Amino acid sequence: MRHRVTLIPGDGIGPEVTGAARLVAEATGVSFDWEVVEAGESAIRARGTPLPEEVLDSIRRNRLALKGPITTPIGGGFRSVNVALRQQLDLFASVRPARAIAGEGTRFPQTNLIVVREATEGLYSGVEHWVDRDHSAAETVNVITRKASDRIIRFAFELARREKRRRVTAVHKANIMKTTGALFQSAFREMATHYPDIASDERLVDNMCMQLVKKPEEYDVIVTTNLFGDILSDLCAGLAGGLGVAPGALYGDSLAVFEPVHGSAPKYAGQDKANPVAEILCVELMLRHLGELEAADRVWRAVWETIAEKKVVTYDLALPGYTERPVPPSSCSAMAREIARKLPLVDLSTPLPQPSGRAGPAAMDPALEA
Ligand code: NAD
Repeated sequence: MRHRVTLIPGDGIGPEVTGAARLVAEATGVSFDWEVVEAGESAIRARGTPLPEEVLDSIRRNRLALKGPITTPIGGGFRSVNVALRQQLDLFASVRPARAIAGEGTRFPQTNLIVVREATEGLYSGVEHWVDRDHSAAETVNVITRKASDRIIRFAFELARREKRRRVTAVHKANIMKTTGALFQSAFREMATHYPDIASDERLVDNMCMQLVKKPEEYDVIVTTNLFGDILSDLCAGLAGGLGVAPGALYGDSLAVFEPVHGSAPKYAGQDKANPVAEILCVELMLRHLGELEAADRVWRAVWETIAEKKVVTYDLALPGYTERPVPPSSCSAMAREIARKLPLVDLSTPLPQPSGRAGPAAMDPALEA
């Protein structure tokens, strides 16, 4: 069966890492038809708008997209294409697995958790204004609804059940945000009663940050609101080896868009230097979503073995300061070619060596369907 996928190369390092991911996707033997559409800075140049309607139409039609990062100007300029995409396609669940790979690039080789972030409301709603004429004060609106809270919390519990995870932790700030935080908290407490087979608990977001950098192996599935999820998923990416290895997925009722946690890293654009693994692991998640489980396992395994072997890895896994075992760095495209070369050679019948401590699943297991 051929799978038709909308491909959005994106900005900065986006074209390089999506090119690398496409190479690996095609090397799996699974058939893809790529519909390439431009969003972000390249779309502004070509079409005068960062999010042409054809991008939304293409994703609605194919119900599947692989996306590179898109630059958002800071403090002005056009509105975030990423936020607009999530809101307009109602991609409500941002799922960001943080899995340490072969113990490399991390002080926490047992990290194996998933951040589930509500992606359509909260402090990302973009509802803000100046309070006075001379712009000396500003307000932003934190929109939290019961409907969206129920939906994301149910999604997190269902994910935990499918993945045989043991615990869902809700993260909020209900001690200070006594209406918005409390609404999310009460939705979580009520939903947890429907999942007696899965343990549940809560953390205030500040405490959660401290707990995660001390003992990430104790956490499993984290569900939270939009801004806290944004921050925690970068933190968890750092625990698992850095932004270069952190994939993500956005799910709506019938759509799925796969994008890395990292941004467009403009300072590395055009240098063939960025780590392609985060975008390549987006292909792994996409293959699981499509039910192409053996191909997904091969991608995970080939990435794992390439990083463990450490002969062809990008700077962030190679250089002193990033790793305890420095080696000469390879390019983005060389690392992608090495992963693609390994795909048919990996042996799926032997288990991957697990780091000492808690033995987590070798990969995200079942197809993640919204
Ligand atoms: P960033 O993730 O682009 O980069 C931060 C740093 O992380 C980089 O300087 C680099 O050192 C490292 N890094 C990131 N990706 C890497 C990779 N693949 N390989 C190796 N190192 C990597 O974050 P930023 O600098 O805060 O944001 C840059 C732009 O990206 C901004 O315009 C921001 O709005 C946008 N952004 C987009 C998305 C998205 O499209 N989903 C997500 C985050 C940020």
